[in-house]
Amino acid sequence: MNEHSKIENMGGCSEIPVLKERGQREVFCGLTGIIWLHRKIQDAFFLVVGSRTCAHLLQSAAGVMIFAEPRFGTAILEEKDLAGMADAHEELDREVANLLERRPDIKQLFLVGSCPSEVIKLDLSNAAERLSKIYFPKVKVLNFSGSGIETTFTQGEDACLASLVPTLKETDEENLILVGSLPDIVEDQLVELIKELGIKEVAVLPGRDRETMPSIGKKSKFILVQPFLTDTTEALEKRGASRINAPFPFGEEGTTLWLRSIKENYGISDDKFEIVTSAPRKRAQLGLKKLRTSLQGKTIFFFPDSQLEIPLARFLSRECGMKLIEVGSPYINRSLVDKDLELIEDMPVISEGQDVDLQLDRCRESNPDITVCGLGLANPLEAEGLTTKWAIELVFTPIHGYEQAQDLAELFVRPLKRKEALLI
Ligand code: SF4
Repeated sequence: MNEHSKIENMGGCSEIPVLKERGQREVFCGLTGIIWLHRKIQDAFFLVVGSRTCAHLLQSAAGVMIFAEPRFGTAILEEKDLAGMADAHEELDREVANLLERRPDIKQLFLVGSCPSEVIKLDLSNAAERLSKIYFPKVKVLNFSGSGIETTFTQGEDACLASLVPTLKETDEENLILVGSLPDIVEDQLVELIKELGIKEVAVLPGRDRETMPSIGKKSKFILVQPFLTDTTEALEKRGASRINAPFPFGEEGTTLWLRSIKENYGISDDKFEIVTSAPRKRAQLGLKKLRTSLQGKTIFFFPDSQLEIPLARFLSRECGMKLIEVGSPYINRSLVDKDLELIEDMPVISEGQDVDLQLDRCRESNPDITVCGLGLANPLEAEGLTTKWAIELVFTPIHGYEQAQDLAELFVRPLKRKEALLI
């Protein structure tokens, strides 16, 4: 333990000690979220105001998009901008004008802040307000930060969704909003199940375009599908909506408990719940049974990456029989993950933040069967003989809901099988 590490109790309902570390960290910045958000919100464009490094990050992370007309780009801040010799606002206005002339399909434009724009204190909220007035009503211009100084990996999505909340239309009607971006097919499955339970007014944030963004008001309820949405939660509550607290819908148990929280909130009968969920539950249980023998008793160590770690750890320990050694998360919002934490038996080390060298020492010492970590750590750890799983795959692969429960477990079986094959 050094000055960068300390143990604190989580307090509240879960008196679980958390190892808090503040040191060097190995996590992507929030710009990464653009990779899935630009596919999700189909009339949006993400204009990163950043450096060539930011442009490279996006281009390499989204390499597959190279031949398509992408819905993201980078307005490069040149040295003269950084030195304060040019008026970066004028240049930004010019870039935006060119872009919107070339791409009339853009209805929502996000100006995305980066480390360089933050360093030169470029006020993007001011720019968004100014540009919104110019292009109103055709294009809505918003801004958020994806800077590595302020955000890690999935926090980019949180910042983006939080920026959308004040622009949502007001409603007096009751509705239920699912919050967090999911692959369309998974989103459809969850919405369908909720509608079958008898709830008709179901919307999703983010909507697939400007027209399908949800309305919100004091009678709105919302439930998260992703655990990293702290700012979005606050923004929704500020608009009067109330959150349904639940474990996250990973695995059969997680999805059932998530749906049950909705059921209880809406006073839906047990019989109805049984009718709607029994078939997909059985399918998920069957799929997981096949894989459980490969995972049972295997140890796992999570480096902090996406904030999905605690719900995933709950799934892997309870539904797959894995033994958790350490569950690291870049940031832990207790009120959002308490339902998952409560379910974890045989509590592992829960760590928040990172001091990568210390964590690597702990990982090596415990010699886990699988280590979940970022790309930068995976290769060196593999070279040392550890079996790794790239955390980023867990964000890019459909893993929520009943129909994906088996695929989720499979993601952890694969590296073990690969290791076995290499040892033969
Ligand atoms: S925002 Fe910062 S951390 Fe992210 S790519 Fe740009 S310079 Fe790097």
